[in-house]
Amino acid sequence: MPHSQQVSKKLVILDRDGVINFDSDDYIRSPSDWRPIPGSLEAIARLNQHGYHVAVATNQAGISRGLFDMKALNAIHQKLHLSAQAVGAHIDAIFFCPHAADEFCDCRKPRPGMLKAIGQRFGISLKNVPMVGDALRDMQAAFEVGCDLYLVKTGKGVATLEKGGLPPGTQIYDNLAAVVDRLLHLAAAARAAADSAPLKKQ
Ligand SMILES: [Mg+2]
Ligand SMILES: [Zn+2]
Repeated sequence: MPHSQQVSKKLVILDRDGVINFDSDDYIRSPSDWRPIPGSLEAIARLNQHGYHVAVATNQAGISRGLFDMKALNAIHQKLHLSAQAVGAHIDAIFFCPHAADEFCDCRKPRPGMLKAIGQRFGISLKNVPMVGDALRDMQAAFEVGCDLYLVKTGKGVATLEKGGLPPGTQIYDNLAAVVDRLLHLAAAARAAADSAPLKKQ
C-alpha cells in the first residue's frame, strides 16, 4: 500500500511501564515481570492500521542501580515485540534511559532528551505529537518539546492525578485504548472536514 509522505510521518510516543504493561514498584526485571495491560497492544495495532508509527520512551534506572542488566532489558523488549506482533502491532523503536536520577543525564524524563532523540530518528517536529504517560515526569518532558499530553489512569496515573501539578493542556483518559479511540476519532473528523471542503483554504 503506498504511503504519502504525510502518512509515513504520523507518530505516537508512549511511556512503557504503566501504559503498555503493568507497572511494579519493584521494577520490571525480567520477561516474566512484563505483563501487558489488557487492550494496550491491540490499541497499538489500531494506531498502526491507521498509519501511525509508535515509539517508546522509558526510564530504566534499574540498569544503573544494578537491579537488572542489558541482557535482561533486551529479553523484556523481545517479549514486548513478540507480544505486540501476536496481535498485529508493531513498535518501531524503544528508547530507554539507563541512568539513575543522580547522574543528571539529558535523557531521563522529566528531561526531554529521549523525546528529542525520537524526533530526530523519525525526522519530524514533535509539535503536537501525542505522548502518552502515567507519571508527571512523562508529561513534563512531553510539554517541554511541544507534544500533546495524554495522561492515563493505569500504572501510577491515579496517584499522579492526585498529586496534581500537571502541565497545562494535559488530557486524562482511562487507559491507552481510550487515548487511541480519541486520536483516531480526531483523525477521522479532520479527514471528513478536509473531504467536505476541498476548495476551502484555511
Ligand atoms: Mg510509567
Ligand atoms: Zn539517561
